[in-house]
Amino acid sequence: MQQRCNKVFMVNLLKSKNISETPFRKEVLEIFSKYNNAIPLSIVEKELKKYNRITLYRTIKVFLEKGIIHKITISGEDSNYAICQEECNTDAHRHQHIHFKCKKCKTIYCVEINEFPAITLPNYKVEQLEIQATGLCENCNV
Ligand SMILES: [Zn+2]
Ligand SMILES: [Zn+2]
Ligand SMILES: [Zn+2]
Repeated sequence: MQQRCNKVFMVNLLKSKNISETPFRKEVLEIFSKYNNAIPLSIVEKELKKYNRITLYRTIKVFLEKGIIHKITISGEDSNYAICQEECNTDAHRHQHIHFKCKKCKTIYCVEINEFPAITLPNYKVEQLEIQATGLCENCNV
């Protein structure tokens, strides 16, 4: 997953999702790829040198709809956003990872797990399944 931080990858990411590349979109995408964990919009706003709030919200909306980033809502927290590590598309986000909130450093991580449970509900169509966990992250758990 290292290559996710590379610029070529990011430009291709926009192209592969049929999103037109604008300098602003690239800039926002670079911020998300720079962080290896989920970040709130306030961090994105802080990192952007110049931005227009409406353009930023539209960009976030497009990225969410096209499966570039996903939103993580942990109760009592601002929404956080992280780049999608799996193949997500316009129809659905297909995540095979859990969201882990460290109670010490407050970081929210996307953590891959080997056996992500599959849930079937009779007569229901499960499109997304989110698992949230809290505890100590690998940096704090020493
Ligand atoms: Zn996703
Ligand atoms: Zn931690
Ligand atoms: Zn995630």
